[in-house]
Amino acid sequence: MNSSKKEVVKFAKMLNDKKLSALRSGNISLRYKNGFLITPSGQKYSSLKEKDIVYINLDGEYNKNQKPSSEWRFHQDIYNSKKNAKAIVHSHSTNATALSTHNKKIPSFHYMVALAGGIDIKCAKYATYGTRELSKNILKALKNRSACLIANHGQITFGQSLSEAFELAEEVDNLAKQYIKALVIGRPKLLSLSEMKKVLSKSKTYKRG
Ligand code: 13P
Ligand code: ZN
Repeated sequence: MNSSKKEVVKFAKMLNDKKLSALRSGNISLRYKNGFLITPSGQKYSSLKEKDIVYINLDGEYNKNQKPSSEWRFHQDIYNSKKNAKAIVHSHSTNATALSTHNKKIPSFHYMVALAGGIDIKCAKYATYGTRELSKNILKALKNRSACLIANHGQITFGQSLSEAFELAEEVDNLAKQYIKALVIGRPKLLSLSEMKKVLSKSKTYKRG
């Protein structure tokens, strides 16, 4: 358990270092045994220690002396509904959050949106943070995708490892930044459905170094 907690602490601190989420915003988790390890609620990442990481089982039970992230419900629901989710990164990254306030998805303005598994990256409908309702909206936006924006809030990604989920979060923020820039000079030309299908099938064999 300790090396997994160490991994969670390392990536949580990277939320600050890589400027994906400032101070204490966002949260991350790693699937562990019959549940997952998650960052605590409201704690600055700079002071985060392994002992602060909370274990929650897939039924949502945890030691009540600990205070898991207020968003543990959507982490629980993602692990329960997506067997390929081994790690989750939620952040309030600047560009994804800015776009999310327009309740806008990222369309096929660039072929790299395929990284999230589909022809676009959807934006989950707004609901109050920490609620099952928010979790339901997120699951809908994550259908056949490994990333989504969350309206007036931020973004979520998941992957086979924390490193994969984290890298995807950086890509999503970068795509959001490019899309916002593209919108400044008008309406960008979108790639067609057939071209995106080509990219999606090609990306299955694309090896990343
Ligand atoms: P927690 O500190 O409770 O994880 O909350 C941060 C957050 O991003 C809520 O959406
Ligand atoms: Zn949040």
